[in-house]
Amino acid sequence: MNANERKEIRRNKRVKICHCCGKEASFCWNCKCGFSICQTCMYENQWGMTCNGITWDCPDCTEPNSYCNQ
Ligand SMILES: [Zn+2]
Ligand SMILES: [Zn+2]
Repeated sequence: MNANERKEIRRNKRVKICHCCGKEASFCWNCKCGFSICQTCMYENQWGMTCNGITWDCPDCTEPNSYCNQ
């Protein structure tokens, strides 16, 4: 297996890189702009990203994202 194949498999496994802590996470909240944040960071930053628990504001593009539709 060469490096390219390994990279391909990792992408297919849907492992996301959290833009907040830089770690791999099996689940990330995603924004349309490509921003991803893991569950842990979302929890830690929830006070600053949501005011209603229904939507969260992307720190990159400030677009509101729903907690429900992913
Ligand atoms: Zn994170
Ligand atoms: Zn965004």
